Amino acid sequence: MGPRGRVATVLRMPDEPGPSSDRCTLPAVVVFDFDGTLVDSDEALLLPFDQVGVDRADVVMGSAVAEECERLGVSMEDYVAAYDTEVVEPYPGVTEMLQGMPRWAVLSNKHPDSAISEIRRLGWEPEVLMCADAFGWAHKSLQPLLEAMGLSAAEIVMVGDSPGDLRCAREVGCRFIWAGWNERVRSSNPDGEVVASPAELHSALGFG
Ligand SMILES: [Mg+2]
Repeated sequence: MGPRGRVATVLRMPDEPGPSSDRCTLPAVVVFDFDGTLVDSDEALLLPFDQVGVDRADVVMGSAVAEECERLGVSMEDYVAAYDTEVVEPYPGVTEMLQGMPRWAVLSNKHPDSAISEIRRLGWEPEVLMCADAFGWAHKSLQPLLEAMGLSAAEIVMVGDSPGDLRCAREVGCRFIWAGWNERVRSSNPDGEVVASPAELHSALGFG
């Protein structure tokens, strides 16, 4: 990621043009949710709530951080300060899968400080990263990302683990794939397209 004047959107323009768009079956950009999709972070996300006495059963995973903190009566600043950015690991196979993705971006409800720390630690370089502050701290949306990247919904695929991710895809009318490597997704057996492992995502997307 390059220097950033605004934390909200971290843009790193690719050195090379993206893959040819003449094969319309291939997405130009794959947009990933972050928590529960690329990284196995449920435990890390819940621990700060434990510390302030919120029952885990009351926490809705996949929510916008500010909205969820407000709903649960927790200061977002305290939550972010208590969140450990050093412990979260990718799901097995995710790093390799990302290395093989021609162009990819991250759309997250997470606080940008937490997400940027983790993405830097993991050595990942999404072309675009949009976090909670890019959506006025409300639930995320794909529309600003499409505008920032100059893409139409038909040119992207969204990959996620939560109903909110699915809503994002439906709002703009793009293809959605469930991250079936997340046990929460697998056990809930959602309707729609579920991919069982990061390795299988390449072929599901037509990248071979
Ligand atoms: Mg998620």
